[in-house]
Amino acid sequence: MKKLLLIFSAALLLITGCAKKETADTTATEPTPTETTVSSGDQKVVLYTSRHYDTDQALFDAFKEKTGITVEVKQGDAKALLEEIEQGGEDLDADLFYTADAGKLAQAKEKGLFQTIGSDVVKSNVPEIYRDNDDMWTALTMRARIIVYSLENVDPAQLSTYEDLANEKWKGKIVTRPSSHVYNQSLVASFIEVNGLEETKEWAKGLVSNFAREPKGNDRDQVKAVAANEADIAIVNSYYIGKMITSDKPEEKEAVAKVGVFFPNQETTGTHVNVSGAGILKSSKNKENAVKLLEFLSSVEAQEQFSSANFEFPVNPNVEVKNELLKSWGEFKKQGINLSILGENNKKAQEIMDEVGWK
Ligand code: FE
Repeated sequence: MKKLLLIFSAALLLITGCAKKETADTTATEPTPTETTVSSGDQKVVLYTSRHYDTDQALFDAFKEKTGITVEVKQGDAKALLEEIEQGGEDLDADLFYTADAGKLAQAKEKGLFQTIGSDVVKSNVPEIYRDNDDMWTALTMRARIIVYSLENVDPAQLSTYEDLANEKWKGKIVTRPSSHVYNQSLVASFIEVNGLEETKEWAKGLVSNFAREPKGNDRDQVKAVAANEADIAIVNSYYIGKMITSDKPEEKEAVAKVGVFFPNQETTGTHVNVSGAGILKSSKNKENAVKLLEFLSSVEAQEQFSSANFEFPVNPNVEVKNELLKSWGEFKKQGINLSILGENNKKAQEIMDEVGWK
């Protein structure tokens, strides 16, 4: 713990220190103070996660210190983890599934893998639009899918909306990752909600016709393509900007220095946001501990760390963003739709992308 805190700088130490005080205050009225479990040593919660960030581990360590509950982490690709959970059934030693994208969480729900969370603390920490309609999962962190542009070739005054990216003035100038990735599926799913099916199809068609190349690679690769003048515009998730700025790979640092960041649709329907989130599995043998972990991860204390160390936005509205990069982007208008819709519209989104030839 000590070592990790050192790595995460004095700022994190400060946050942890403050947050402890705050937690003591906020949990004072709860019937089961976490201190009682500290000495038991054998309390655990098993978390299946597709996330792979040091911040998450630091938070699990903080949770253990606070509650005595060990978070056993099984990390892997979301698809592989889901398969394992499905095959393991009731016997599986797994309490929680934690992954990126509301679309993925909806998939787990559809497969019947989750049970209701049933925590008033989670409900008060996380706004309703960032939780599943049937209380099967809750968001824990937020990210925006933003426009990244070439500082050399694009005047940001030319930028306005996602819809405008279908305009032929951008012919051969846009890159994004393949349609097989849930980030883009959710982006299109959100437009089905905001603009309707037909308009979204037209938009997707126009967007694809402006692609500079066949979609390939991940979000960071799109930033690199813009930096290398292969394109002028990319659509990427916001936290990758922070991760590339602080990367230990010189090529990532150099690439991100050549691009600007633009939050689209500020005058219209808002920037598309998505989340990372988690649900409690039906197989859970430690449901009480799983609920405690979700309550902790959605608390002000934990939420501050997501944004200070991982460049994600808090979902808990009571958290003040302290990260300098995020602060420099300022407040922005979000799409504001209920994220359960991304799962509901996922199939239609994939159909549209197939139909318009989004590889
Ligand atoms: Fe990602």
